[in-house]
Amino acid sequence: MKWVLNFERCKGCALCTGACPKKILVIQEERINANGYYTARCVDADACVGCALCAVMCPDCAIEITD
Ligand code: SF4
Ligand code: SF4
Repeated sequence: MKWVLNFERCKGCALCTGACPKKILVIQEERINANGYYTARCVDADACVGCALCAVMCPDCAIEITD
């Protein structure tokens, strides 16, 4: 499974980081998007089980889980 973020949609609210059972999502502090937000980032793509809890939790539909 592949975790894909729509970088410009994310507002860095961190709801996805708390929802992930594998604890592999963080709010990165290296780059802001056009709206001025630090965004979510997956730190261990291999550990993602594709449960999509992060995507369901995101209020901005910024996460997509693909094959
Ligand atoms: S799909 Fe599941 S395991 Fe993968 S990042 Fe989202 S919540 Fe975590
Ligand atoms: S829940 Fe959505 S908007 Fe909030 S940090 Fe995660 S991806 Fe970004």
